[in-house]
Amino acid sequence: MTQSLEQVAQEIRERVVRFRTEEGAVWANEIEQTRQIPDALWHRLRELGFLNLTQPQWAGGRGLPLQLYFPILEEVARCHGSIRMVVHVYNSIWRTVGCGREEQQREWLPKVANGEALVAFALTEPGNGTGIDLRTTATYQQGRYILNGQKHLITFAEEADVLVVIAKTDAEAGRAGLTAFLVRKGNPGMRLTPMPDMMGDKGSSHAVVTLQDCAVPEADVLGEVGQGFDIALRGFLDQSRACIAQSAVGLAAEALDQATDFVRHRTTFGKPLSARQAIQMRLAEMAMEVQAARLLCLDAARKYDAGQDISLEASMAKGFAIRMVGAVTDGALALFGGIGYMAGSPVERLYRDARSIWFEEGTAEMQKMTIAERLLTDARKRERAAR
Ligand SMILES: Cc1cc2nc3c(=O)[nH]c(=O)nc-3n(C[C@H](O)[C@H](O)[C@H](O)COP(=O)(O)OP(=O)(O)OC[C@H]3O[C@@H](n4cnc5c(N)ncnc54)[C@H](O)[C@@H]3O)c2cc1C
Repeated sequence: MTQSLEQVAQEIRERVVRFRTEEGAVWANEIEQTRQIPDALWHRLRELGFLNLTQPQWAGGRGLPLQLYFPILEEVARCHGSIRMVVHVYNSIWRTVGCGREEQQREWLPKVANGEALVAFALTEPGNGTGIDLRTTATYQQGRYILNGQKHLITFAEEADVLVVIAKTDAEAGRAGLTAFLVRKGNPGMRLTPMPDMMGDKGSSHAVVTLQDCAVPEADVLGEVGQGFDIALRGFLDQSRACIAQSAVGLAAEALDQATDFVRHRTTFGKPLSARQAIQMRLAEMAMEVQAARLLCLDAARKYDAGQDISLEASMAKGFAIRMVGAVTDGALALFGGIGYMAGSPVERLYRDARSIWFEEGTAEMQKMTIAERLLTDARKRERAAR
């Protein structure tokens, strides 16, 4: 009997919970100690079926809509920042290639879904702002584009088989001057330099990508010339922002559970901390914040699955989740008292891992700029309509 997508999602979610309770802590400890994601873990996540949840079924993925994927991602995000990162990268960055031409989708998507290929996404640059401010150029020369420029903070660039690089093909054309390129591993014009260890998400690699006269065949323009902004923002980042927000929900829910368990057992002045109303209020505040963020994610997921533009909803979810996860992990650390600050305490790693969520797919200010732009555009439209 064929399972419904709901049944598939429920079964995988339960598998994640089992993985977390039976193996999660062992993998997390190994990552924290070695500062690496062991090959065996990449393999295990693939074997358990956590890396092909969202890719289309024709390519070998499970084809889960965001609404069904999010409860799974929430459980994954309770495990370890880098486990979440691997699952997220496989289940999210393929969408850039999903905006490509049919032959590009046919080449790459089955490989991503069966775990043979990893795609990384290279937008951020060290010397300037993101988006139309970027300076990496791509110049057409006899059937090839020559890329020059530098990207940094690129997650899993070293492990990736192909990088989606956003570059400028027309300096005067604004958004329409941006193009996405597939730059394959081993291209002699691309140099990868590992970046120093990060504060959290230990084990995840990030690299500086230097493109020096990097020749990319015209066939590896992803989609069409001038579609780079749409591929980066509408095709990938909007849904990915909602995914990062959902990851924040999982991480914060874990911090809240840890803090709740702790205050039930920690006694001061003759009573468990959990008997104090001040502590109960704090837990309640944290729980409300987590649930509010979860519902913002669900709203974005439902609209995305219905084919709607979710730039506003994704930015609201991500902007809110940044504040929420900061407050909840702060609160959890505070409730643990000094013992929580100890390296290796249950909340210390969550506190560090939460901070990457501030940056991945854009900061709070970037999300607020998107929200404000929509508010002002709508206000202008209302004014015009009233005239
Ligand atoms: C763990 C991690 C993984 C990442 N992975 C990737 C990846 O795989 N691919 C990729 O391309 N990038 C990646 N990034 C980069 C990430 O997307 C950027 O760090 C983030 O978008 C912020 O950009 P920035 O670092 O250039 O900050 P900046 O743009 O330099 O901003 C610095 C500060 O100024 C604020 N600011 C900037 N401009 C304005 C403005 N106009 N008005 C008001 N405030 C402003 C920002 O909000 C921020 O607080 C990753 C980052 C991290 C930390």
